[in-house]
Amino acid sequence: MKIIMLGAPGAGKGTQAMRIAEKYGIPHVSTGDILRANVKGDTPLGQKAKVFMNQGLLVPDDLVIDMLMDRIGQEDCKNGYVLDGFPRTIPQAESLDAALGKAGEKIDLAIDVDVPDDHIITRMGGRRACLGCGATYHIQFHPPKKEGICDVCAEKLILRDDDKAETVQKRLDVYHEQTQPLIDYYKKAGILKTVDGTMQMDSVFEAIVQILGESLWQ
Ligand code: ADP
Ligand code: ADP
Ligand code: ZN
Repeated sequence: MKIIMLGAPGAGKGTQAMRIAEKYGIPHVSTGDILRANVKGDTPLGQKAKVFMNQGLLVPDDLVIDMLMDRIGQEDCKNGYVLDGFPRTIPQAESLDAALGKAGEKIDLAIDVDVPDDHIITRMGGRRACLGCGATYHIQFHPPKKEGICDVCAEKLILRDDDKAETVQKRLDVYHEQTQPLIDYYKKAGILKTVDGTMQMDSVFEAIVQILGESLWQ
């Protein structure tokens, strides 16, 4: 099963992708996590990407596409994966389709986690992220058991630089301009499903599991 998560920054893609990955035993591939690991490790890719990420802009397509292709070519992705944060532009989607097509494969489902902008602004300030394992928390909606510490790997949680209010608005603008057109792209491909991302996390997950269950039987 190859799944794409679509939605605005902060819609809950990562939260849901991690649960899907766990339930179905497929890897959660987050381009944001891979990029942040590169920034943290100060790799050549990280040095280039950081400039864009800190301004709330997208990292150029060529850098991200190569990085993603490399990741999904790995052994653990053989039986499928859930992509979180990729594709984010039409050229990224086309490159992915082309690469999969060559191997006789395709994306099975694109799930749009739909959340209006005003919800996003309140969500982002409360997000806390773990750079160790990619888990995300929310100080109000999903607090860690011990304040400031990741439940999964015990690393310190951070407020991402790009989650500060001034950058969030920029990221939303970038989303509407460059990423939202993908909703139509996957609608036309006949694989788009939409869930109401304003429901609480467990209800969003239930809706996704139902969609996945239905498509497994098609
Ligand atoms: P969010 O969780 O808010 O959706 P991500 O963790 O997915 O954010 O991404 C953080 C930043 O990393 C983005 O604002 C962008 O700069 C960069 N990034 C992640 N994925 C991509 C991508 N597919 N294309 C371009 N830039 C990306
Ligand atoms: P994305 O990957 O789309 O950027 P995240 O999964 O990181 O989004 O979620 C953004 C923030 O909102 C996190 O702090 C997360 O804990 C919280 N969150 C996710 N889903 C919900 C939900 N359904 N209701 C309330 N808060 C949520
Ligand atoms: Zn962690």
